[in-house]
Amino acid sequence: MGSVVVVGAGLGGLSTALRLSAAGHRVTILEREAIPGGRAGRFTDQGFTFDTGPTVLTMPALVEELFALHGEHMADHLEIERLDPAYRAVFDDGAVVNIRGSVEQMVTEITGFAGQAEADRFVDFADHLKRLYEAEYDTFIDANFDSLLDLAKPAKMAELIRLGGFRRVHSLVASKLTDWRLQRLFTFQSMYAGMSPYEALGVYAVIAYMDSIAGVYFPKGGIHATSQALADLATRHGVEIRYEAEVARVTGRGRRATGVALVDGEHIPADVVVLNPDLPIAYERLLPPKATPRRVKHLTYSPSCIVVHLGLDRKLLDAAHHNIHFAADYQGSFDDILAGRLQRDPSWFLTVPTLGEPAMAPDGGEVGFVLIPSPNLHGDPINWTTQAPRELEATIQRLEDAKYGPVSDSVVTSRVVTPQDWADQGMAAGTPFAASHHFRQTGPFRPANVAPKVDGVVFVGSSTTPGVGVPMVIVSGRLAAERVQQQLAAR
Ligand SMILES: Cc1cc2nc3c(=O)[nH]c(=O)nc-3n(C[C@H](O)[C@H](O)[C@H](O)COP(=O)(O)OP(=O)(O)OC[C@H]3O[C@@H](n4cnc5c(N)ncnc54)[C@H](O)[C@@H]3O)c2cc1C
Repeated sequence: MGSVVVVGAGLGGLSTALRLSAAGHRVTILEREAIPGGRAGRFTDQGFTFDTGPTVLTMPALVEELFALHGEHMADHLEIERLDPAYRAVFDDGAVVNIRGSVEQMVTEITGFAGQAEADRFVDFADHLKRLYEAEYDTFIDANFDSLLDLAKPAKMAELIRLGGFRRVHSLVASKLTDWRLQRLFTFQSMYAGMSPYEALGVYAVIAYMDSIAGVYFPKGGIHATSQALADLATRHGVEIRYEAEVARVTGRGRRATGVALVDGEHIPADVVVLNPDLPIAYERLLPPKATPRRVKHLTYSPSCIVVHLGLDRKLLDAAHHNIHFAADYQGSFDDILAGRLQRDPSWFLTVPTLGEPAMAPDGGEVGFVLIPSPNLHGDPINWTTQAPRELEATIQRLEDAKYGPVSDSVVTSRVVTPQDWADQGMAAGTPFAASHHFRQTGPFRPANVAPKVDGVVFVGSSTTPGVGVPMVIVSGRLAAERVQQQLAAR
């Protein structure tokens, strides 16, 4: 058994710590902030509670598994409900389509606006995505790679190719569904991996499977309740979590890490150090300059986003929990972001967490979380200090134009978070969506979760394998824990 320091109590760090403590190791988490969760954090203001990051919780079985490892049940600590509809989508012609909670409900919905034949095609499509997900889970997602040979599971690879895993997402979906609204509804999720569906590999169509087919969930108390529940679970099982403990660097002797030094100078020894901060920033700030692999210096990054948090003193009209507003020029909105400029005619998301947890606002009030995809800091130079108030004004106008009611005179409190803010929080290129997931940064080509030039350092989180999003970083924790066990065994 070894002693392990995990730097960061993001969902990736928590997942690693929970697996290592279940295996009997002594684990200490050092977290810079006063609360757990990292991007899945929280702030409060004037009686409103705001989740800072993820709003779409998928694959809760991965969270459940962490409780089960410690002989507990998630349901005793975290109450989650499946959202129906998962999304309410609004198109530029005013059409509204709901993504319903089950395939059967979806068939009824599709039959209503696109006919029985398209509904039949949807059943085939849902089955196709499920098979794609199953084919890639243990080859591409839940797998540590030491060499390209690890990919050589010929039967699985052949299945992935056959199922269209190496086509582009949009072309794969368009080969199955003919209705343009459905094509948008099952391709926009590529943005979660930081790519346009016109460039993302078909393997990323599984994001649509994970949310729009396998289900979107919401925990009572908001998404941050998941982070808190996992941190509490860790504490109950012997993990020491120290908050407001910022790590300044990894200490070492020769090429071996020996622990970490906090910004106040305290040294905490460890057999292995797990780094949860964004991988390129962890290399840059916490490890010696020579440790950074050349590839990491040349990573390309996902687009970013602007988030407008609104605390309102009245309810929004006709909103669902998740509302997507598609731009008229769907492809053009991706082209803008990928060319590094603000969307001229934006697609945007509105999440209303108070529909699932009214206590997140004072009586009669509402919380609105509006996310607008944007370029990262490697795009056009934008003065985000002057852009932020413009985004607030434009968002309020958009909500009113979309008939959510009189918003401008209902705002009690607001906060705009821009790519510059994500950068200030330690996210490379000012994006919370990590290194991009194009082919050369996917699967075995993603930055490795071990440092090639330093022994005893392991990475976890969205810029290493398998990638971005809550389910992926929880899996990343399993992969990191496996690496820690290997490092301890090799000592
Ligand atoms: C606005 C937004 C919307 C999103 N929407 C979704 C969604 O709907 N669904 C979804 O699945 N995913 C979504 N995501 C992505 C998801 O939140 C992330 O992929 C995931 O939470 C990242 O977890 P992580 O553990 O990799 O990193 P982080 O959460 O960033 O954790 C890193 C931790 O390290 C700490 N740290 C950093 N430096 C130090 C240091 N020097 N010393 C000590 N501690 C340090 C940080 O404080 C942080 O707690 C969204 C993200 C954002 C920001």
